[in-house]
Amino acid sequence: MDKGIALILQVALDTPLRRVFDYLPPADTAGRTPKLGVRVSVPFGRQQLIGVLVGVTQASSISPAKLKPALALIDDEPVFDPVTFDLLRFASDYYHHPLGEVIAAALPAALRLGQAAGGAADLWSLSEAGTRELASPTSRRGPRQRALLKWLAERAEATADEVTDEFKPEHLKTLARRGWVISRRAPIDAAPDPAPVDLDPGDLSPTDAQIKVIDAITASLGSFAAHLLYGVTGSGKTEVYLRVIAESCARGGQALVLVPEIALTPQLVDRFRRRFKTGIAVLHSALSGTERRAAWRAAYGGRARIVIGTRSAVFSALPRLKLIVVDEEHDASYKQHEGFRYSARDLAVWRAQRAQVPIILGSATPSLEPLENGAQGRYAKHLLPQRPGAAQAPRMTLVDLRKHASEQGLSQPAMQAIERHLGAGGQVIVFLNRRGYAPSLFCNACGWVAPCAHCDARMTLHRRAAQLRCHHCGAHGSVPRTCGSCGQPLNPVGQGTERVEETLVRLFPDAPLARLDRDTATGRGAMEAVLERVHRGEARILVGTQMLTKGHHFPEVSLVVILDADQGLFASDFRATERLAQTITQVAGRAGRAARPGEVLIQTEFPEHPLLLRLIADGYEGFAASALTERREADWPPYSRLALLRAESKDTTGLDAFLRSAADGGRACDEPGVKILGPATALMARRADHFRAHLLIEAAARVPLQRFLARWLPLVEALPGPAGLRWSIDVDPLELD
Ligand code: ADP
Ligand code: ZN
Ligand code: ZN
Repeated sequence: MDKGIALILQVALDTPLRRVFDYLPPADTAGRTPKLGVRVSVPFGRQQLIGVLVGVTQASSISPAKLKPALALIDDEPVFDPVTFDLLRFASDYYHHPLGEVIAAALPAALRLGQAAGGAADLWSLSEAGTRELASPTSRRGPRQRALLKWLAERAEATADEVTDEFKPEHLKTLARRGWVISRRAPIDAAPDPAPVDLDPGDLSPTDAQIKVIDAITASLGSFAAHLLYGVTGSGKTEVYLRVIAESCARGGQALVLVPEIALTPQLVDRFRRRFKTGIAVLHSALSGTERRAAWRAAYGGRARIVIGTRSAVFSALPRLKLIVVDEEHDASYKQHEGFRYSARDLAVWRAQRAQVPIILGSATPSLEPLENGAQGRYAKHLLPQRPGAAQAPRMTLVDLRKHASEQGLSQPAMQAIERHLGAGGQVIVFLNRRGYAPSLFCNACGWVAPCAHCDARMTLHRRAAQLRCHHCGAHGSVPRTCGSCGQPLNPVGQGTERVEETLVRLFPDAPLARLDRDTATGRGAMEAVLERVHRGEARILVGTQMLTKGHHFPEVSLVVILDADQGLFASDFRATERLAQTITQVAGRAGRAARPGEVLIQTEFPEHPLLLRLIADGYEGFAASALTERREADWPPYSRLALLRAESKDTTGLDAFLRSAADGGRACDEPGVKILGPATALMARRADHFRAHLLIEAAARVPLQRFLARWLPLVEALPGPAGLRWSIDVDPLELD
């Protein structure tokens, strides 16, 4: 290097600006070139921020005299393994989101604040005497000490600060004095020798169909391959994951398992803990900051052999990654719906390719993209068409709501079926994707409906809470007794889960009921408590929303009633029917998972609708085939690529002018194969006092779309807009609103 030219550090900072920031190296590092991926603390305006070094250069667009020195290099070694680091950079490019914010999404808060990422630490574990003490029924230790012994036994090893995050330092000291815990000093960010994975094979022997899939996927360990595991609910997909993971761990690797929502599937984590006696880190949104840091270290250090997590776990630093599993790959929660709008499923596929490891995408209702990839031979498609053992696929029937009398949304045939199944000792699920008591409060005299003052939407009545609530902006208020327009009494119209609960309690007073929706599942543990009541058979009827569709396994449920299939039938969004078919199939899949045969009733006012008929006659597979044909004819994804520029402002004229200039700028880019549609007003034109509109970008393929966005977005960024304008770009949007 030329002596006269100083090295310039390019630092990604957690700011919404789409650029990196240049700094001179800190004073005390002259001559040393830091590694990319280390954290750096820098002055930023009057603040001091912590960023990540993403490049070094000798040229800056800022004049050298104006460059400030960074304050300090925090790490010697990068805080990401190379593949994870590449993944973050790819995600920033692909989703056109600032790299600093992307990196911030991947790091636990403690690390973003500058706490040590690694180094050596004392790792504490139970001694033999401690293990005996824990097992001893006559132990007279205090409850906290016993709790700590138990906590340590579950973890195998923990650092002192992991322990003191949960317990007082004195407790650890006391246990050490008694010789019940011992420590060894070890680097926590260096992977130890591959620990033997103590796999308890369980008492199942895999079916022939499972063996075929397990063998095929195992054979691909060591290189990239995408496997679509299409198996009806309850067909034994998880069993396949467990066995392939065991094999990849046995070869010294780490496995990453993505799941839609941990709280909804505590059984899955339990199943993993039962099968693998060592090294599982669980990452989800309810972790405390210190738990998250501990899990992150366990993953990066290699102590965690299996990482199970929700969406953002796709960014876990995993130096020995050998396998990725995306369970319920169709689940909408894999896509982040605000800020950094990434798809964890799509990034997982990219990561697998970059890391040269296989990925399993599992679902009973695969989204159309991987199905098309399967049809084209890009993904290997594996089928598990049957439930193992005695379990049969449930029988589905449509109930014509126009023909049958109904009581608060519950048709006569549905009531009879519920009575029959309860009588036979089965459990019943009643599904309705609408929480609250009633979706509107209506005046019969003049037609007035209680509106949200801030949105183009109606207020939902929550009777137990005695509130009207807006499900779009969170506004709430007391329930008016009389019409705001003519003074007559008001009536709740339509059903929400709260009202269905009331009706069922009245009709089936002897059947204990549990309700699962976002109103009952508030706070840590509330949801688990509801699910527990169902598992133990205390609740005979379970009423709930979308939350019920996730992979629960309730062996005694024999009947599922879908109260209203019509919500998605006529929606304008091109993905609405796909979502509806998935929801129906998933909810239906909760019935008859074990010995009891399952029955599913779908209430509808449109029993001749081709989607419903196809779904009943040919299952999800038949639906998917016709949906793909429709998509191809209309040039929708997966046969095209989309991006959506959403914008909102209180100033509707300014909003429109901004989007018009953005559209004009885009058309002037003149990118072949790219069309700009709009501006169009959003379906809900006003939300939380902001007007909303968007531009839809439609491209023939990924490459022209990306080329276009890279040229266009800097222009959009430079456009003037009304005060308080907010806009965002959503690449591969799931919703067009
Ligand atoms: P999925 O993940 O497809 O919903 P699971 O792997 O959870 O399916 O299996 C559903 C049920 O079937 C579970 O109770 C599981 O223990 C059981 N099961 C899975 N594989 C087998 C098998 N080979 N033999 C017997 N039972 C099995
Ligand atoms: Zn509102
Ligand atoms: Zn009125």
